[in-house]
Amino acid sequence: MSIAFIGLGNMGSPMAGNLAAAGLEVRGFDIVAPVPDGVFAAVSIAEAVIGAETVITMLPDGRTLRTVAAEAIPAASAGTCFVDCSTVDVESARAVAADAEAAGLLPVDAPVSGGTGGAAAGTLTFMAGGSELAFRKAKPIFDIMGQKAVHCGGPGNGQAAKICNNMILGVTMIATCEAFALADRLGLDRKAMFDVVSTSSGYSWSMNAYCPAPGIGPNSPSDNDYRPGFSADLMLKDLRLSQLAAAAAGADTPMGMAATELYRSFVENEDGAGRDFSAMLPRFEARSRES
Ligand code: NAD
Repeated sequence: MSIAFIGLGNMGSPMAGNLAAAGLEVRGFDIVAPVPDGVFAAVSIAEAVIGAETVITMLPDGRTLRTVAAEAIPAASAGTCFVDCSTVDVESARAVAADAEAAGLLPVDAPVSGGTGGAAAGTLTFMAGGSELAFRKAKPIFDIMGQKAVHCGGPGNGQAAKICNNMILGVTMIATCEAFALADRLGLDRKAMFDVVSTSSGYSWSMNAYCPAPGIGPNSPSDNDYRPGFSADLMLKDLRLSQLAAAAAGADTPMGMAATELYRSFVENEDGAGRDFSAMLPRFEARSRES
């Protein structure tokens, strides 16, 4: 099986490396990043794509995806699986899928969760949108790069699942952090707070698996001075995508909107840029009701 891999950044590089390590022939292309060990360096998108049975993209945003797809789709032969693993807006995902389908390709939008650690370990989760046939063809590739792939329906539905999940995550992380900050002011010990909430109706992934309070619960970025992990910047990106999608679909998402505004302020006006998204806790800790 031969693979073209476009976009070899923090996520793409280890993902492409895992495919090569599994014995697949991988040709990689990036405008800046070097190819990882075992991956052949292509000099252009077209050179990477010509003759590949599967094309994978892992790019920063929808605009870049559209540009890369405009070059990659004409170079691919009919029947090629075209898998985009980037997190992008639903509209771009659906537009690229329509172009790919018109060229006889099998498009799948398959954003991931699991971060750079999951990419390196080959334990990502893929949320996939596309036809049954396209998903079936891409599944063995997902199995190498990840531990789980969920078929969420037609084109764009992988992106839809990703931004809905991350909207919940952003909102619950904020709720968890503001509750810890309130507990502090009420004189409630953080360990007691964790022991109660993690086993009561306030539990969530944010509390139980990624506790934002250092020294409490499982090991998480809060125990590493809030180094990401999952950065506040990437959370802001995903929340913005959720609000773009909500606006386009006419959906009422007041909590998603509030979370987007809080992360925007945290990243753009405060000290959130480059920190883990759970660093909302020291942010709330340092503020009072009036500030
Ligand atoms: P990154 O910026 O490290 O990598 C993107 C790569 O794309 C860069 O190396 C860049 O040079 C390359 N690129 C840009 N334009 C290109 C072009 N025209 N042709 C070829 N290459 C081009 O970003 P990342 O952290 O690897 O994330 C990639 C995607 O995965 C994003 O959509 C992000 O939202 C998503 N994601 C990231 C994480 C994470 O923890 N980093 C987790 C889940 C999802």
